[in-house]
Amino acid sequence: MPAQLLDGKLLAERIRQELRTARTALGKAPIRLVSLEVGQNPAAAVYVRNQTRAATEVGIEMEVTNLPIGTNEAELVATIGSLNGRPEVAGILVQRPLPPGIDPRVVQSAIDPHKDVEGMHPTNMGSILYREPLLPPCTAAAAQQLILATGLDLRGAETVVVGHSEIVGKPIAILLLHRLSTVTVCHVGTKHLADHTRRADILVVAVGKAGLVHGDIVKPGACVIDVGINQGADGRIVGDVDFASASAVAGYLTPVPGGVGPVTVAMLMRNTLRAAGARV
Ligand code: NAP
Repeated sequence: MPAQLLDGKLLAERIRQELRTARTALGKAPIRLVSLEVGQNPAAAVYVRNQTRAATEVGIEMEVTNLPIGTNEAELVATIGSLNGRPEVAGILVQRPLPPGIDPRVVQSAIDPHKDVEGMHPTNMGSILYREPLLPPCTAAAAQQLILATGLDLRGAETVVVGHSEIVGKPIAILLLHRLSTVTVCHVGTKHLADHTRRADILVVAVGKAGLVHGDIVKPGACVIDVGINQGADGRIVGDVDFASASAVAGYLTPVPGGVGPVTVAMLMRNTLRAAGARV
């Protein structure tokens, strides 16, 4: 039987509906999310468009600022400093990639942790070790939402995360550990990737390599979350998982596009409302 599709667009729509209700409960005062970008990257433009659309739908005002090309790290940090001081700004988002010479960690650390809606300030990243944080990194939170939507029992489930980046692999591993999943993290140093993936009840792949995971290394019935975004040979966007072969084996599978991506944007909106005081 082919895998059940985990439709991220549908889940994101459901989440946005809940967020609209939470937004209304916060009253009429503006809630603003500021997007900062140095220059104007065509790849980022798609994200900004999707984020703006989701913000409008939920009732968040999105302010998009494109700083001039040539803006340096100190200038970007100073801009963040002034946004930190504006009370109507609930969240600050820095679009990537940043130009060479600007350290993303310095930039992220300059954001007031209470306005760090990407959940990447060291304070928010660190608090993941304590418990599920108020402002989790959006993509990791999205992967978790998609897994929870299956209704699978995470306690004791064999979970394998492929990729150990700060923004996806590491946080999702810890979020699922909080649910008492038995988590293995694979990366470039892993000797026999297939030995791990073949025993995964839940498999999260976040690497950025098209076709890294084929159906032959997926456990029958597994829940497979494909975080990867790559340009396929024919120019189309594909994930890290070979969709055709994996969908013949897996129990649940996220499509790319239309899986983790839309839910990530919904998590950004959730974080913004949480930063503004919503209990959602
Ligand atoms: P990243 O920072 O480049 O991290 C990739 C990770 O994969 C690294 O930990 C790397 O290990 C590991 N890796 C590389 N080759 C591997 C291999 N052959 N086997 C196992 N692990 C390997 O990327 P990222 O930011 O986590 O993003 C991963 C993918 O998700 C990208 O395609 C990105 O575009 C996508 N993404 C999607 C969303 C979304 O909303 N859908 C959001 C963020 C990212 P080393 O560091 O040791 O080399």
